Amino acid sequence: ATTASLALALTACGQNSSGGSKEDKGSAKGGTIGIAMPTKSSERWIADGNNVVKNLKAKGYKTKLVFGEDDPDTQVSQIENLITQGVKGLIIAAIDNKSLNNVLQEAADAHIPVIAYDRLILGSKNVDYYASFDNTKVGELQASYIVDKLGLKNGKGPFNIELFAGSNDDNNTKYFFGGAMSVLKPYIDSKKLVVRSGQTALNQVTTLRWDGATAQKRMDDILTSSYKSQRVDAVLSPYDGISIGVLSSLKSDGYGSKSKPLPVITGQDAELASVKSIIAGEQTQTVYKDTRKLAEVASTMVDDVLNGKKPQVNDTKTYDNGSKVVPAYLLQPVSVDKSNYEDVLVKGGYYTDSQLK
Ligand code: BGC
Repeated sequence: ATTASLALALTACGQNSSGGSKEDKGSAKGGTIGIAMPTKSSERWIADGNNVVKNLKAKGYKTKLVFGEDDPDTQVSQIENLITQGVKGLIIAAIDNKSLNNVLQEAADAHIPVIAYDRLILGSKNVDYYASFDNTKVGELQASYIVDKLGLKNGKGPFNIELFAGSNDDNNTKYFFGGAMSVLKPYIDSKKLVVRSGQTALNQVTTLRWDGATAQKRMDDILTSSYKSQRVDAVLSPYDGISIGVLSSLKSDGYGSKSKPLPVITGQDAELASVKSIIAGEQTQTVYKDTRKLAEVASTMVDDVLNGKKPQVNDTKTYDNGSKVVPAYLLQPVSVDKSNYEDVLVKGGYYTDSQLK
């Protein structure tokens, strides 16, 4: 997205884009909360950060918002700095789910509660609560969309599909992929879906740091090696940025014409560029996760913990981080395509019609 469209997008989500990685002096009755987001390279995290700031300020906190540039070491030192600066609580969307052990011990020693934001932090008992979406459901929605769109339930097929997963250091990746494969596997087993590259195991299909260019390169390689005389009918993509990379690869291979239509291609996050792509008939679907709601859940969790109240949770068994089962509040993701984007995204106040033009 361009800076201008991003600014517009964020304004529509009820925030401004200048919330930045600086200290925000709210009225501060409750002290300062540190918020560590993974990257500014994807709109959603900017929106998440700004929404958390807004919610916490409304509850009387000051905030410090930092973005880790998708570099685990940067994120660790940012969190260390937040602890040194005396934050009262931490909300963290991890870059590498296993790299935060030591720094979370420092937080625990300083009695700072930690909320894992969207991505579970692994291997540490010092994670108090987890705020996220039903991550298995995200994958199920993507895969069911492919199944429905191809008409597999009506006996159509066989079709060619290729599979992409997210970053292998993001705990969500295995839930998204697991959810999707629970739906796709029976069709792969019965050969109604054929993965011509042969790459079906999670460790063959991950995309480090969710990078669109990495996905584009992998799709290029797959098209060259496995689709000389065949056509791709569907691509399972776990994230809009990956979908855009895959689409670029397909388009350079001549897909997108009457005689060689683009495959069904999924996504996640309802990012502005992808919603526009859906409207233009390129990407087919995305999974929308309302970052305004997630920010509200995480902010309420930290506020409750600091006030000695038990935060509301709705899942106490799924998210075992290796040290403990982290009590979680999971929100519901929503499948969006050309037929319902207006209802869900525009009527829901996430985007305005004019942003999507
Ligand atoms: C989030 C997704 C996002 C991905 C890439 C995941 O942890 O749950 O919403 O698409 O990271 O940023």
